[in-house]
Amino acid sequence: MQLYTHCNSCKSTIKIASNATTRPDLQMEKGDEFTVNCQNCGAMQKKHVNDIKAEPNKTVLWIGVAVAIVATAFLWMFFGLIGTLGVAIALGVSYQQMNATRGFNKYMIRRK
Ligand SMILES: [Zn+2]
Repeated sequence: MQLYTHCNSCKSTIKIASNATTRPDLQMEKGDEFTVNCQNCGAMQKKHVNDIKAEPNKTVLWIGVAVAIVATAFLWMFFGLIGTLGVAIALGVSYQQMNATRGFNKYMIRRK
């Protein structure tokens, strides 16, 4: 899962370096408001935790899919139908990413 926000001046995407998976986690880590530095125009700006959005980590999604395809092909040769479990693994990984993202975006911290 990748956290990002938008620059106030040039509207470009600013990535947030954090491993927080929920908004309260991010709040614990950075506080209610924190300063971000736009990589595009260099503007420093304060962002509230609620201004941060999450999107699924595509690398994790693709690795999940790749592993599942290999696992499915491999298992299919030996176990036939049970090999389709690989597909279930891929769906599980993708679902976990989507779910974490949705949870993050849905949950707002009460503004003081
Ligand atoms: Zn900018």
